Amino acid sequence: MRVAVVTVGDELLAGDTVNTNATWLCEQLTERGVRVERVTTVPDDLSDIARVVNEYNAEYDAVLVTGGLGPTHDDKTMAAVAAAFGREVEEHPDVVAWFDEHGGYSGDDLAEGTTHLPAGSRMLPNEEGVAPGCVIDSVYVFPGVPGEMKAMFGLVADDFAGEKTYTATVTTPEPESTLLDRMQGVQEAFDVDLGSYPGENVRLKVTARDPETAEAAARWLRERVESVEVEE
Ligand code: ATP
Ligand code: MG
Repeated sequence: MRVAVVTVGDELLAGDTVNTNATWLCEQLTERGVRVERVTTVPDDLSDIARVVNEYNAEYDAVLVTGGLGPTHDDKTMAAVAAAFGREVEEHPDVVAWFDEHGGYSGDDLAEGTTHLPAGSRMLPNEEGVAPGCVIDSVYVFPGVPGEMKAMFGLVADDFAGEKTYTATVTTPEPESTLLDRMQGVQEAFDVDLGSYPGENVRLKVTARDPETAEAAARWLRERVESVEVEE
C-alpha cells in the first residue's frame, strides 16, 4: 500500500507551526507496513489543495489530508476536496444527526458550513472537537488540531495495512563517505533496504521483511564498521 500525506496551512509554510501531524501520520503508517511516498504541505488555498488531492488520488492507494476543516474563512479543505472530485459540499445528514445526538446542541446552532461535507462522502465524527472529517473514495480528511486528528485517524486506522517490516540500527562514528563500500556490501549480501542518517554519528538503519534478516544484516555491519552504543 502506497500513500501520500497532505498537510494544509499557511502557518506550516510560514514556520509558525511545527508539522507534527505529518511526522505522527508517517510513523503510524510506516508501523503498519504502509509506504508513505509523499508528504506535501500546501497553503490554505482552494485550488492548491484541490490540485494535489486530485493528482495524489490518481497516483496513490490512499491520500491523508489534515488541516483547514473548520468553518472559518481560512478553512478551505472540504470545498477543495469536493472540487477535486468534481462535487459540491452539501449538508450531510449523518453530521446533523451526530451533532443532535452527541453535541449537546443542534445542527442549527453550529457555525454555517460545519455540517457540510463533500457530496457522497462518509462522515468521520470529531470525538475531540467539532468539525467532522470525511472519507471520499480513498481520500481521508482529518482536522488540523493534533489531538483531534489522532483520534479521528484511530477510527480508520484498520484501513491502513501493508507488509510489516523489521528494522535494526548500527551507529558508527566513521564519516559517511568512508562507509560506502560496506553500505553497498550489506545490500548485496542481504535482502534489505538501507538508510544512512548522518549526525554526530552516522546511523545505519536496515529494514527487512523478517526480523532474522534485519538482525543478520546489522551483525554483518557491526563486524565491519567501528560501531558505538547510543541511547535511542
Ligand atoms: P478548526 O476546526 O479548529 O479550525 P482545523 O481543522 O481547521 O481546525 P486548522 O485551522 O488548520 O485546523 O489548525 C488548527 C490548529 O491545529 C492550529 O493551531 C494549527 O497550528 C494546528 N495544526 C494544523 N495543522 C497542523 C499540523 N500539520 N501539525 C501540527 N499542528 C497543526
Ligand atoms: Mg481552522
